[in-house]
Amino acid sequence: NLTSRLSGVIKTLRGETRLTESNIQDALREIRLALLEADVALPVVKDFIASIKEKAIGHEVMSSLTPGQALVGVVYQELIAIMGGDKSDLNLATVPPAVILMAGLQGAGKTTSSGKLAKWIMEHKKKKVLLVSCDIYRPAAIHQLELLAQQTGADFFPVKDGQKPGEIGAAALDFARRHHHEVMIVDTAGRLGIDEAMMQEISELEALLKPIETLFVVDAMQGQDAVNTAKAFSDALPLTGVILTKLDGDARGGAALSVKHITGKPIKFAGVAEKLTGLEIFHPDRMASRILGMGDVLGLIEEAQRNADQEEAEKLMKKMKSGKSFDLNDFKAQFQQMHKMGGMSALMDKLPTQFSQAAQNVKVDDKIIHRTVGIINSMTQQERTKPEILKASRKRRIAAGAGVTVQEVNRLLAQFEQAQKMMKMMNKGGISKMMRGLKG
Ligand code: GDP
Ligand code: MG
Repeated sequence: NLTSRLSGVIKTLRGETRLTESNIQDALREIRLALLEADVALPVVKDFIASIKEKAIGHEVMSSLTPGQALVGVVYQELIAIMGGDKSDLNLATVPPAVILMAGLQGAGKTTSSGKLAKWIMEHKKKKVLLVSCDIYRPAAIHQLELLAQQTGADFFPVKDGQKPGEIGAAALDFARRHHHEVMIVDTAGRLGIDEAMMQEISELEALLKPIETLFVVDAMQGQDAVNTAKAFSDALPLTGVILTKLDGDARGGAALSVKHITGKPIKFAGVAEKLTGLEIFHPDRMASRILGMGDVLGLIEEAQRNADQEEAEKLMKKMKSGKSFDLNDFKAQFQQMHKMGGMSALMDKLPTQFSQAAQNVKVDDKIIHRTVGIINSMTQQERTKPEILKASRKRRIAAGAGVTVQEVNRLLAQFEQAQKMMKMMNKGGISKMMRGLKG
């Protein structure tokens, strides 16, 4: 299965320090199979593997990760990127009513999603919503939407007997304008397969209604077939987004990747239950972990990242401590190093509390780092190693040289004293004791 495949990948690369074309070959084969098993369509898998290869080769491996884990990390990041990176919002910014057109095959979940979306928009966007059904071919379909309207509290457009979809659309638009609906969701008929007449009908509706969102609704369980459906709809209609339904089933999520790849449009929502509350904003990162089915591996990678940060922190602390007579040169070096690691507070997060307390007064941001380094650069070597000789006239000279005020020089010296105190504390506590604290 998937998980064992991925642990296989992780084992095959043990001992390599760099990902190369030859050492990732077997691993890529496993990842390829894993993606196919997750129902990602073959052409999509091919493109994806090619881009992974490009990204992975030459990628340096963190010391606490095996190369296999590193590769899986690359795959994970790339999956997220290819699914759009961040979540994307619904666009309703237009002259009301903002029309949302629902497109997709029969059974994809268009009608259900129309109801869910009405509820979501009323709750999250606080807008007045009208639900409109253009599905005249199945009498039950219009009634199905009417029931959903009742359950959500959205308004429902009353269709007259014998009205054609185009007539319904035009009349509903007029109705929505007169009743001040801000959003109008238009449910359409679907067929069991791609069908000329269906495409024709929905294209005409699109031209008439000029929707701000045309959402392609697709069943995640469709797996590989999702590609063909997505292609047909994306060719016929200017889609703006996708709703991926039935993710609560045992769908492996590969459809998400295929559909995004084919349409180039973001997946905006995921259907995660039959009930009306079962619609969620789509999160690419969650789907990426689902596709890889590798919660454990991701945990490992995060852990390795944390360990790597900790190693850096330990190195820095050792360096800090090694100078028995801690002077302003050390202080400057520390500042620069801390800056590299994301500032003092990031560093202190990795250290035991007694040290972070001592460091609380040493706030580091970019400006302060530059200023601090500038001031220290204006000092002579003697002044840097023996700060106690810094009296008023020297301070004035340094301030003028660094383009700062004497107060700022004083502030820096006060910070330096703080840091010196901290160094003494560490010496007293003993470096090994501190490092034990680090691990805890
Ligand atoms: P339409 O033909 O595209 O309008 O599809 P429907 O909205 O009628 O949905 C078809 C079936 O799928 C219904 O039984 C729905 O309850 C079900 N369905 C739709 N979305 C979801 C979902 O996100 N999760 C689950 N479990 N079922 C869903
Ligand atoms: Mg329907």
